[in-house]
Amino acid sequence: MRTLIKNGLVITASDELNADVLIEGETVAAVAATGSSVAEGWSADTVLDAAGLYVIPGGVDAHTHMELPFGGTAASDTFETGSRAAAWGGTTTIVDFAVQSVGKSLREGLDTWHAKAEGQCAIDYAFHMILADVTDESLKEMDGLVDEGVTSFKLFMAYPGVFYSDDGKILRAMQRGAENGGLIMMHAENGIAIDVLVEQALAQGKTDPRYHGEVRKALLESEATYRAIQLARVAEAPLYVVHVSAAEAVAELTRARDLGLNVFGETCPQYLFCSTDDLAKPDFEGAKYVCSTPLRPVEHQEALWRALRGDDLSVISTDHCPFCFVGQKELGRGDFSKIPNGMPGVENRMDLLHQAVVDGHISRRRWIELACATPARMFGLYPKKGTIAPGADADIVLYDPQGSYTMSAATHHMNVDYSAYEGKTVAGHSKTVLSRGRVIIDGGQYLGQTGHGRFTPRSTCQYLT
Ligand SMILES: [Zn+2]
Repeated sequence: MRTLIKNGLVITASDELNADVLIEGETVAAVAATGSSVAEGWSADTVLDAAGLYVIPGGVDAHTHMELPFGGTAASDTFETGSRAAAWGGTTTIVDFAVQSVGKSLREGLDTWHAKAEGQCAIDYAFHMILADVTDESLKEMDGLVDEGVTSFKLFMAYPGVFYSDDGKILRAMQRGAENGGLIMMHAENGIAIDVLVEQALAQGKTDPRYHGEVRKALLESEATYRAIQLARVAEAPLYVVHVSAAEAVAELTRARDLGLNVFGETCPQYLFCSTDDLAKPDFEGAKYVCSTPLRPVEHQEALWRALRGDDLSVISTDHCPFCFVGQKELGRGDFSKIPNGMPGVENRMDLLHQAVVDGHISRRRWIELACATPARMFGLYPKKGTIAPGADADIVLYDPQGSYTMSAATHHMNVDYSAYEGKTVAGHSKTVLSRGRVIIDGGQYLGQTGHGRFTPRSTCQYLT
């Protein structure tokens, strides 16, 4: 089965060229200049005309939480609905977080996540592991997980009593990662101090969603970021800081990177396009924007864009963790600390970042680098994922840069009853999406299949200096 994509502008992290792409089976066989004798000589069973379109690698979203149990409820997208929504939005790989429960093994957590995802996904998927209980046993188990392609481990300096690890546990996990190649990912917020401020705010009758943003102070993000960096230096381990939102935390990353350290930062579209103004929306609507780290005042956005241009932030993921407004976010009426933390976005990321290209924040190639190539490299999926080159999986999007539409819960495919970007018009959208050579979205139709997506084992980080 050969598929030929003709006449498009192929954009990768490194190049933009008018080229045709030949696919054989599930992988890219060749790329050649449009109109060249090589390309003219190709024949195929299916020909897709990409005239006027961008031909880009499918998005790699390295931070999702399908079906995550949190705060007495669970994220509303299953692997089936969430991976399908990702495909609609031009994302063809997700890396989701399997969770170790306190007192349980990593194995048990990972097996549970395999059982949730197996046979359910529209696109390929991989796992990180959340280390909630650092013990001698779980440290040993890390080695085995790295061998089976789960090569990154997330720790939390936030959420005491749930996911929280103290500095000693963090140091031990980092040391183990330095030995076995596992990359430590950090939720960097000082959760012990935040819990004091939460208690004080509630005691003063400050119960609205906007106080979620006020107690989770930027300084408590930057303090934790600084501390995580120093612990990683002591352990001689690389570090990946997830969902960076505060300018002060970016400054810590910049300082570390100026020292040449293997310290990397991720941010998410909600921090670039939303702010504390959304958290302050009346009638409890601010609850739709409760996530951690929290949204920041709008002034922080310029620091994030600058860091994204200069590679002090290297990846844009979604932290997709949707909870419906009705019945889920509402659990926190009268007490912001009971609002489930998380926002939907897996379907919106590629289009929002294309909008950032149109708005002049980043270049087209940087868009692909931040959303496809670097997440693939960071998490050991490159060049299978994240680029268009001979041998790569044929995860390809025919992207219409003129395909303007308005984001809305009424038309999105995520299983959640609101859109964080309701009413926002963006310049482009994915017209045709291929996953391993198979067309799964075309012209407004879903043509994929539940279970087409496969678990994809990963190598260790390919982004170290
Ligand atoms: Zn997360």
